Amino acid sequence: MSQRMEDSHRGFLQAMMRNGIMDRQEAKRLCKLCCERYKSSHAPDNLDSFIDTINSKLQPLFMQIRKGMSEDDGNQHYVLVNTAETDITRMSSDYADNELELFRKTMDLIVSSENGKASSTDILNSTDTMASKKMKKSQTEQLLKRFVCDKWLSEKQGEYTLSTRCIIEMEPYIRAMYQDQVKMCHICHNVAFQCQICENPTCGIKIHNPCVARYFKGRVEPRCPACEDFWPHEIPEFQQRQSQSKR
Ligand SMILES: [Zn+2]
Ligand SMILES: [Zn+2]
Repeated sequence: MSQRMEDSHRGFLQAMMRNGIMDRQEAKRLCKLCCERYKSSHAPDNLDSFIDTINSKLQPLFMQIRKGMSEDDGNQHYVLVNTAETDITRMSSDYADNELELFRKTMDLIVSSENGKASSTDILNSTDTMASKKMKKSQTEQLLKRFVCDKWLSEKQGEYTLSTRCIIEMEPYIRAMYQDQVKMCHICHNVAFQCQICENPTCGIKIHNPCVARYFKGRVEPRCPACEDFWPHEIPEFQQRQSQSKR
């Protein structure tokens, strides 16, 4: 049975609305803080039931705090999502039609790539085939910055990936839209973009980089969990939580 919504829940939700996304550590800290500040009757360490209470009130408003994994560090994150508009139209209040078309094109590039990335050059070139109003190079670059700032894309050294927020919020849309092109991670069963792929052509499973790090940690000879062929990729180091909070 869901509990009553208290000021502590409202405080948490307001912070969630400001941030859009939070990792589990931050969410736990905030939950504790809100429970203490508003003298909540809720157990401050039970984050999941705290969020369940909020979600039961958000449901009629077609909103939800949804949990998912970051492809960058493998940590759980919470995202405030809109459940009524499950596709890119979700972004239409903030972006013009040609801007949304560029976002779709970027998503196409990322989904069809092997490593879940699209270079800024490829994105700039994709504007040549735009159906809506064409964009200048400088406009496109500005727009990409906005997508990063609004947490729809992430950027590292001129390469763009779908942000954690985007993947968690748009996963149902991505699965429906790119059915054959997207693969799930063999370990965590979420959609996989930034990942390693088994080179056995009859297998070809994908595993997220942090899932690779976790799965192969401490194994002497890495073998594919599906076909047992030798896993030829460099195994990323298993990241401790602290290293990512400093970034
Ligand atoms: Zn995974
Ligand atoms: Zn394999």
